[in-house]
Amino acid sequence: MIEEVSDRLRGLIESKKRFLITTHIDPDGDALGSVFSLSIAFENSGKEVVVYLKDRVPYRYQFLPKPSLVVHGLPDGTFDAIFVLDAGNLFRVGDGYERLREMGTIVNIDHHKTNEMFGLINIVDEKASSTAELIYKIFRNLSIPINREMAINIYTGVMTDTGSFRYENTNSEAFLICEEMVRLGVNPSYVGRMVYENHPVERLRLMAMVFSTLENIINGKIAMVHVTEEMLKKANSSKEYTDGFVEQLKETGSLDVAVLLREISKNKYKVSMRSKGNVDVADICSVFGGGGHKNAAGCVIEGTLEEVRQKLKKEFLKIR
Ligand code: 5GP
Ligand code: MN
Repeated sequence: MIEEVSDRLRGLIESKKRFLITTHIDPDGDALGSVFSLSIAFENSGKEVVVYLKDRVPYRYQFLPKPSLVVHGLPDGTFDAIFVLDAGNLFRVGDGYERLREMGTIVNIDHHKTNEMFGLINIVDEKASSTAELIYKIFRNLSIPINREMAINIYTGVMTDTGSFRYENTNSEAFLICEEMVRLGVNPSYVGRMVYENHPVERLRLMAMVFSTLENIINGKIAMVHVTEEMLKKANSSKEYTDGFVEQLKETGSLDVAVLLREISKNKYKVSMRSKGNVDVADICSVFGGGGHKNAAGCVIEGTLEEVRQKLKKEFLKIR
C-alpha cells in the first residue's frame, strides 16, 4: 500500500516546503498522535508546518509533544500539500472543510473502512490498527528518523486505537511498533497514566449521571445511555469528559453493542457505538450518514431523544 505511493509521496515531501496537517473533530489519541508525529517530522526537516485542529486538545492528550504551530481556525492562503489524517471524509475535519480542496493537494492517510478516498494521494488501509501505524510505516519507508517526541505520539496513537491492545484491530504490527517506540524512549506507564488515570473529579459525577440513564436493554444485547447539555452543566463538565464512557459500557459481558447518545444541540445527537465480535456498527452508522470501523463507529442523528432512540432501535432489531 505505502510502497505503491511512496515515490509520489517522497517527491512531494522532498520538493515542497509548506504543509498543512489536520484531522477530525473531537480528536482522539490516534488523530493527535498521527498529526503531531508527522508535523514534528516535517519541522525537523526544515519544513513550514501549520497544524489545524477544529477542537482544542482534550486534557488527556495535553502531555503529547506538539509542533510549534497549532491553530484552531483554518488559516488563509495556500499550501503545497494538505495532510488529512484519520478522517473518513473531509466533512469530519470540521469548520472550513469546504475550502481545503482549493488550498492545496490533499493527501489522505487513514484506516477507516468507510474512507471516501478524497485525496489526490490516498493511503488508506483498513487493516492497519491505527493511522499512527501508517504514519510509522511512512517514516520507515521514506527513511524519516523517529525521535522520542515522535515516538510518544506514535505509541499513544496505536495504544489508544487498539484499546490498549485489546480490540480486534490489535495486530502484530501494533506490538512491534510499540516495542520499538519503547526502545526509543517511551515510558508506557507514564503514557497510560496520562491517558487513562488523569481525569478531573467532575468526570466521576458526570459518569454517575450518564450511567443512571441506562434503561431497557434491547434483546439483552444492546445498551444505550445518554448525556444532555444540562447534565454536562450540572456536573461542571465538558463534552470531552464523556470520552471512554461508551467503552466502559461495552465492558459488560452480556452486551454486544454499547451506545452513547450525546446532545450536541436541541434535537441533535452525536451517536457513538462500540461492538464486540461480528456486529458491524460502521454499517449501522452508515445508514445515518456516519461511519467508522466494524467495532467502533459514529454518526449524528436529528430528532428528540426519544425519536433518536427509536430510529436506532429500528436498525438494531435488524441485527442477526
Ligand atoms: P467516536 O464514537 O469515538 O466519535 O468515533 C468512533 C469511530 O467512528 C472513530 O473511528 C470515528 O472516526 C468514526 N466516526 C465517528 N463519528 C463519525 C461520523 O459522524 N462520520 C464518520 N464517517 N465517522 C465517524
Ligand atoms: Mn484512528
